[in-house]
Amino acid sequence: MALNFNKAEFVRSAGEPKDFLRDGLPQFAFAGRSNVGKSSVINRLVGRKNLAYVGSSPGKTTHINYFRLDGRAYLVDLPGYGYAKVARSEKERWARLMETYFQREADAITTGVLIVDIRHRPTENDLTMHDWFRQTGCPEIVVANKLDKLKKSEVEGNLQRIRETLELGEEDMVIPFSAEKGTGRDELLRAILSSVEASS
Ligand code: GDP
Repeated sequence: MALNFNKAEFVRSAGEPKDFLRDGLPQFAFAGRSNVGKSSVINRLVGRKNLAYVGSSPGKTTHINYFRLDGRAYLVDLPGYGYAKVARSEKERWARLMETYFQREADAITTGVLIVDIRHRPTENDLTMHDWFRQTGCPEIVVANKLDKLKKSEVEGNLQRIRETLELGEEDMVIPFSAEKGTGRDELLRAILSSVEASS
């Protein structure tokens, strides 16, 4: 499947299940904790400065944002999680929305993209999100962002720690990535496209 990620347009923001979108096109769902650089990764992928809003106050928007790619697929931006200062009511809203999303939309998700911070061991919340993706049965690509913040000598060990914590197998993919520098972009695009081919 050829897909021009540079042709991306915002379609809809879903704050509740009635606004979930499905029309049979492939959907790539992006998840990550607040501040991990999810918006920056998305903007890097689509070659835009601000399609997804970078640096918005963490955890403030409990919405699922849908972007159409080249009229042929959707990039689904799931709300960030794990920001300590968010009010309990917001956390509960997030949990309700995500639980419903994964219950109802599991079969609409073509590929899960879990963004973690390459500097750190994945958090409990990352593990929860990872389990939810696994339960859908869709392929999952792990993106280890902020590569530019590591020394070269630290990269392999940190990737290994991510693999171990998420209990990944050899066939599972972890892509070292820097939204800041653009490293890993081509590999991630390729991985997403081949996941569509595998599912069709
Ligand atoms: P989000 O909350 O996950 O959407 O994260 P943002 O995209 O808003 O990024 C959070 C902060 O991390 C911002 O200050 C970004 O500039 C910074 N950031 C994101 N990706 C990278 C990266 O690859 N390298 C570096 N050095 N900073 C990054």
